[in-house]
Amino acid sequence: MQSAASRRDAAVRAAVGQGIVGEGRPVAGLLDVTGIRQAAAGLREAFAQVGAVDALHAFAVKAAPLVPVLRLLADEGLGAEVASPGELAVARAAGVPADRIVVDSPAKTTAELREALASGLAVNADNPQELARLDALVAALPGPVPPLGLRINPQVGAGSIGALSTATATSKFGVGLRDPGAREWVVRAYAERPWLTRVHAHTGSQGCPLELLAEGVRAVYELAEEINAAAGERRVRTVDIGGGLPVNFASDEVDPTHHAYARLLARTVPGLFDGRYGLVTEFGRSLLAKSGVILARVEYAKTAGGRRIAVTHAGAQVASRTVFDPGSWPLRVAAYDAVGRPRTGAPVVQDVAGPCCFAGDLVATGRPLPPLEAGDHVALLDTGAYYFAHHYAYNTLPRPGVYGYVCDEQGVRFAPVRPPQSLDELVAENGAGHAAGLSALR
Ligand SMILES: *Cc1c(COP(=O)(O)O)cnc(C)c1O
Repeated sequence: MQSAASRRDAAVRAAVGQGIVGEGRPVAGLLDVTGIRQAAAGLREAFAQVGAVDALHAFAVKAAPLVPVLRLLADEGLGAEVASPGELAVARAAGVPADRIVVDSPAKTTAELREALASGLAVNADNPQELARLDALVAALPGPVPPLGLRINPQVGAGSIGALSTATATSKFGVGLRDPGAREWVVRAYAERPWLTRVHAHTGSQGCPLELLAEGVRAVYELAEEINAAAGERRVRTVDIGGGLPVNFASDEVDPTHHAYARLLARTVPGLFDGRYGLVTEFGRSLLAKSGVILARVEYAKTAGGRRIAVTHAGAQVASRTVFDPGSWPLRVAAYDAVGRPRTGAPVVQDVAGPCCFAGDLVATGRPLPPLEAGDHVALLDTGAYYFAHHYAYNTLPRPGVYGYVCDEQGVRFAPVRPPQSLDELVAENGAGHAAGLSALR
């Protein structure tokens, strides 16, 4: 079987050869369909092997809100975790069944909650005020009540990236379990509401050690046990453990794996896997990151003050996190020549810049790479989640096209995931329909 790296090399060569990336379309996102399928199957298998028979793996849509991606994952048995009306619409367009959708939006309006309940979607309330809204909506609901839960902040601490650490003492998410009186309030809230049957925690994302994530799961499991003891019945039936499995951005190795995390959870919280609880997971990055690359042309290769710079078409518009917080989000850059073959040559230290008009638009600095020349290509690796699907509209740069690929005896075959944004679309999005609007205001 071909490795992910050899599939990637073949896809880059074919993308250049077939004009998916070229002069008129100097940047694109490529997705390894085989890799995505393997990741999804690996996730299901990992939790099945530790005894989680009743499990819903809801892909965190924010990691890659692309309809064909969600359809592919749904084919593999996954669901969707959504955090906004837009993500919900994308999941629906992909055909994700209602009973596989989990609504976790941090700021749900009453209208969104009402619609979710009427559509049979699972909802996790974030706070007491939202729970009070659910009280009213559940009382008025004509049909069956879908699975409803409460998001708990286990307050077990932060990982190495503050912006992605959701279980600090003061995180904006959920009910802080260790706040004075909070635990008692939560236990009572469940005791009073027979329809509140889930607990939810998402302890953090990239930068959180597995042990920290497992401590978050332990905290909500213990809470579920306490709630059920107090209620005198199995009130909490399902524990939603969130996502957050970190991804290795330093090499092609998948590390940690879903298997390693599932085994750690089974050791840390064996009671969660003894058949009494259903399980929901919400992985995003770990399912997609390693199956995506951003492929971009090198437009110019120059030097300034002794610094060697490759000016490419991939910058902050497709790799915002890396450009604005390079310490937290370093990316590997692979060098390819003008026809898409891996570039050879003794590495020289160089910077890889993007097309945006600000000096900090760099995706790599001081990186030893084979000397890049105008007309070459660079690939930003492991960018299948939270990169090209998260366009930043700086400089009115268009959203690049995204294409999925498979490699077989016939070579590399591509399928479109999202077309590149056209100039007409860009102009329309920026108010072309209202050109005289301001001039008319006097
Ligand atoms: C972002 C998020 C996820 C997914 O996190 P990953 O690190 O991509 O796995 C899951 N659940 C919630 C509530 C989130 O906010």
